[in-house]
Amino acid sequence: MIKTERLQADIEALRAISDPCNGGVTRIGFTERYRQGVEYVKQRMQECGLTTYEDEIGNLYGVMEGQDSSAAKIISGSHLDTVRNAGAFDGIAGVVCALEAARVIKERGIKLKHTYEVLGFIEEEGTNFGQVLLGSRFISGDLTDADKDRFISKDKQPLREVLSNYMQGIETVPACRKNDNILAFLEVHDEQGPVLQETNTDIGIVQSIVALSQLSISITGFAGHAGTVPMNLRQDAGLAGCSLVSRMTSYVLRKYTNEATFTVGKFSLLPNSSNCIPNNCSFTIDLRSGTQAIVDNVLDYLQDMKKLVEQEYNVTIDVNIDSYKDEVVMDQGLQQLIAESCDKLGLSYRNINSGAGHDAMIMANLCKTAMIFIPCDRGITHHPLEKVEWEDMRKGTELLLETILRLDSQF
Ligand SMILES: [Zn+2]
Repeated sequence: MIKTERLQADIEALRAISDPCNGGVTRIGFTERYRQGVEYVKQRMQECGLTTYEDEIGNLYGVMEGQDSSAAKIISGSHLDTVRNAGAFDGIAGVVCALEAARVIKERGIKLKHTYEVLGFIEEEGTNFGQVLLGSRFISGDLTDADKDRFISKDKQPLREVLSNYMQGIETVPACRKNDNILAFLEVHDEQGPVLQETNTDIGIVQSIVALSQLSISITGFAGHAGTVPMNLRQDAGLAGCSLVSRMTSYVLRKYTNEATFTVGKFSLLPNSSNCIPNNCSFTIDLRSGTQAIVDNVLDYLQDMKKLVEQEYNVTIDVNIDSYKDEVVMDQGLQQLIAESCDKLGLSYRNINSGAGHDAMIMANLCKTAMIFIPCDRGITHHPLEKVEWEDMRKGTELLLETILRLDSQF
């Protein structure tokens, strides 16, 4: 039987393995504290009979050998690292649920045909190297040995050097699993949004992980005295920026209320002085949608508005696309299997898109991949107050287990 108290004990133990911070959890990839967290999970894996190992990047595996060694592997997990002053569930919950599923399989004496692996990814948040999804990108082969010299930590050390310290005395295997035979990757994760709680739904079955574009905008006008230049003769870069942001926001809000998000998280003016007309305004745009076509439509609209605002305010606007990532669609067959498992277990569910990136989007390049979302309180995440009900952790584990058993018997 799935034991809620074991789920709770693991989450609380990992919550306590934290660098000092403001009431939350700080366990950043490749640090001593991260090593402690990994050792905790490794021990729990070994206790329930899993064989543990780490790959060259520090991703942690716990393996339950299947009856048929030639059968493709089933993998489930999430990340073990956190941002600074994070909650206790983001990522960690997915590892803890996958581990509990392994315990229950063992306790019930179930012999899986397929090998089942519990996986804890390192450095998903990118807090140490500024590279999100680092662990999974080495697994998928997107990143290779040469990148270990290219990536530099916050403390100005190359990844290769950081790894040689972090991995001291630990035997490792190559990270890349491109040529491995993997049947499916399943990631349980808290929703990090409010929809499941607000609609009183047990489970979110992820359809796609959103397309994401990040842009930086720089507007050039002409500085002047706040008291002497008449309003109609100004080239006010600040006002132009405000106008552009306001036009874009209301367009997305009106046209794509539940389908896209448009966020300006940084906004700055030069010379940034109370009695000066700004000659420069620069800001960032973070644009996301589950549908690539919507992102493209908003980017087209941005080009139209750019011309309009340039004319209206007599400024020039540079639009730089810093990143442009396609949506990642989760495997249809797995989504179906998860839905059938929900039906069997009497769990309510809805389809949902993930507005945040996850290791699953990288694993989808390797094998059939799906994500199971469980509710979190008010969608609060990357914050000490992040909270998942223990009962929801149990439901997520129950669903994961059922899905693993179905996969095992159907393939
Ligand atoms: Zn996460």
